[in-house]
Amino acid sequence: MNKFLLIVSLVGFIALPSCKRNPITGRKQLTLVSEKEVQSMALTEYNHFLTTNQVVPVNDKDAEMVKRVGTRIANAINKYYQDQGLAGALEGYNWEFNLVQSKEVNAWCMPGGKVVVYTGLLPLTQNETALAIVLGHEITHAVAGHGRERMSQQLLSQGIQVAGDVALGSNPGTVDIFNQVYAPTSQVAVLLPYSRRHEYEADHYGLIFAAMAGYDPREAIPFWQRMAAMGGNKPPILLSDHPADADRIAKLQELMPEALKYYKPGN
Ligand SMILES: [Zn+2]
Repeated sequence: MNKFLLIVSLVGFIALPSCKRNPITGRKQLTLVSEKEVQSMALTEYNHFLTTNQVVPVNDKDAEMVKRVGTRIANAINKYYQDQGLAGALEGYNWEFNLVQSKEVNAWCMPGGKVVVYTGLLPLTQNETALAIVLGHEITHAVAGHGRERMSQQLLSQGIQVAGDVALGSNPGTVDIFNQVYAPTSQVAVLLPYSRRHEYEADHYGLIFAAMAGYDPREAIPFWQRMAAMGGNKPPILLSDHPADADRIAKLQELMPEALKYYKPGN
């Protein structure tokens, strides 16, 4: 695209009400796609993923744990929003938690609350509290609209105009970008890591949600140390899109006093 067109597009975008304040973080985000559209695309991708991967049956004790932890985190988030007078912010969320058979060290949450944990993650989490730390982090990426923000940035940089009433799913350009940002199996996802700011927000609020759900947020430190120790030869997706280990652990330590205010042991 030439410079003139880029400027025209930028002006067009800026003229639209395309920046919205995120209810959780309070930060203004570029929002060129609606949450509803993104949730609709996510549901399609999620259903496809479940039919093409081996879902661990719900009566398995690890699958039960994933549902239990996920449900407690989701309840904490619902409460957090309600306490802030923002109950409507989770509109369209219909939480689901699945454990999927895979060696990959990974977990993700799509917009709309569709959560998948890979069995390959469990040897690293080792306990329910560390799993709560991971789910708090991944779920925060979704509820804080990070994927939607990344998608909007990609649309802007590629000069793709999005009309409010045109279904995103019917535009090949937007489908491509959605897949780059969200598709769990996409190699491209590794090349488009979450920014440091997104990672910091996910750590920050993830700790709070885990603490509110009755899990000790301090478990985040040994968990991320274990993740760091296994890095190197074969970076898994979850690891490769996260900041340098020492930096993360120092930031987690800084966030801990605030998170501990939300933690009531024995809940
Ligand atoms: Zn992350």
